[in-house]
Amino acid sequence: MIRIIDEGKIPKERRWSLGKDNYEDITPDIIVEDPVGKDLVPFIYGGYIYSPGMLSRDRKYAICSKTPVNIQDINCDFTDSITCPYCGHKLTDSWEMPDSSDEEICDYCHSKYSYERDVEVTYNSVKIEKAKLVEIKKG
Ligand SMILES: [Zn+2]
Repeated sequence: MIRIIDEGKIPKERRWSLGKDNYEDITPDIIVEDPVGKDLVPFIYGGYIYSPGMLSRDRKYAICSKTPVNIQDINCDFTDSITCPYCGHKLTDSWEMPDSSDEEICDYCHSKYSYERDVEVTYNSVKIEKAKLVEIKKG
């Protein structure tokens, strides 16, 4: 059995103590069967997509992010990072990705989407030498 723990319930200072902290004082959202021979994959429970981020070595607990299933108004246009149009997950290392992809799989909800990098071109100008122009007087 694996205790599914919402990462939002874990105090920040305890989030990186995997293997030392068993989080037994934190009430799990749900306890699931251990999928023997398989990784724990994202699943839906109680209107949320649970995406396992960390599974303890002894497979007693998994820390998951929670995203509402029917999330509305996900902004995917001209964002500062690649954003999954299904769950809103932002890819933090977007700058390392190729300029575009016809098929990307979301780390969180495992849905497929495509993206392209939008590049805005701007210019900077610096003075070098002002031209000497002849001034013509009014006759
Ligand atoms: Zn997603």
